[in-house]
Amino acid sequence: MNAAYLDYNATAPVKPEVAAAVARALDLVGNPSSVHSYGRAARKAVEDARERVAALTGATPAEVVFTASATEANNLVLAGAGRTRRIVTAIEHPAVLKTAQSLPGETVVLPVDGDGVVALEALEAALKNSTTPTLVALMLANNETGAVQPVAEATRLAHDHGALIYCDAVQAPGRLAFSLATLGVDYLCLSAHKFAGPKGVGALIVRDGAPLKSVVIGGGQERGRRAGTENVPGIVGFGEAAWLAPQDLANAPRLARLRDRLESRLLEIEPRLHVFSAKAPRLPNTSCLTMPGVQSEMQVMALDLAGVAVSAGSACSSGKVEPSHVLRASGVPDAVSGCAIRVSLGWATREEDIETFLAAWRALYAGLTNRWRSGISSAL
Ligand code: PLP
Repeated sequence: MNAAYLDYNATAPVKPEVAAAVARALDLVGNPSSVHSYGRAARKAVEDARERVAALTGATPAEVVFTASATEANNLVLAGAGRTRRIVTAIEHPAVLKTAQSLPGETVVLPVDGDGVVALEALEAALKNSTTPTLVALMLANNETGAVQPVAEATRLAHDHGALIYCDAVQAPGRLAFSLATLGVDYLCLSAHKFAGPKGVGALIVRDGAPLKSVVIGGGQERGRRAGTENVPGIVGFGEAAWLAPQDLANAPRLARLRDRLESRLLEIEPRLHVFSAKAPRLPNTSCLTMPGVQSEMQVMALDLAGVAVSAGSACSSGKVEPSHVLRASGVPDAVSGCAIRVSLGWATREEDIETFLAAWRALYAGLTNRWRSGISSAL
């Protein structure tokens, strides 16, 4: 059986160079805060990685705060930026949406258009409506649909109204060229495992001068902004992945061609299928689409049996599959979003993987439609 891993937006396979760097770092004995030679060797490894992560975003090393995940980075900034009013979009990751809504003060949730792109007029109106110190959160690219958001324009609006702005850029490295300077944001977060680094390590980039009160209290690590002994092997792997990410950017046009071919071949099989955010600027590697009349969980399971790994376009929490909040916010009826899957490509995706996916999709759909047809004819 051919196998095809097409779930890079959930997590990317670790690159061999990253695995080798992590393995070497496991041999570093010292605690980076220790002053002896063992400690200094671990500190050097962490600081070298910090330089590489900083370079990926155009930040300075001092602006990089290592965390245990992007989820933690989201929590740190929302709770620690010192703003009691937050403006977030309806399509943010739950690590932003739920955190913002759980904090004291006010959270305004902005609508998006039918392609899942934030309405900037709504942002402007929300900014005008208050004198309370505000933090805006706008992701760079959506994890479910790949829709790219107008972050630089949102930054201008936020700053014109005296607000701070935060960007969850987790899905962007290696897929989209960006920098702290071009986006202009005050805070930005990354997650190593989305671009071939290890799981369980992230970063919050805090622009020089932007406020951040630590909410992880303890030792003075990360310049007092996030206590806790650094995850040295994870951070070293993160640094290696950041160093290699420009290669992925060079590979992005190839992935876009594969993704576009996948969509056009599926549309030939079933012209009624829906591709979400197709008219928006989109990540080159992401496709969120329906198999009409077939529940997402059923598709994910059947494709898995055929060796193909994709995600449901709906969120699974506590054992219950719920309609995607992203597609719902884009005005998609639950009955349609319930038939959506997300296919996401990455650095190791080959043409054969796309062919394997297409063959499995076609076989599943043909089998089901034949059954529906015979069901209909036997009912007649
Ligand atoms: N933000 C976005 C846009 C994501 O896609 C994810 C992961 O799915 C996260 C945040 C959370 O990242 P982590 O797995 O590092 O907590």
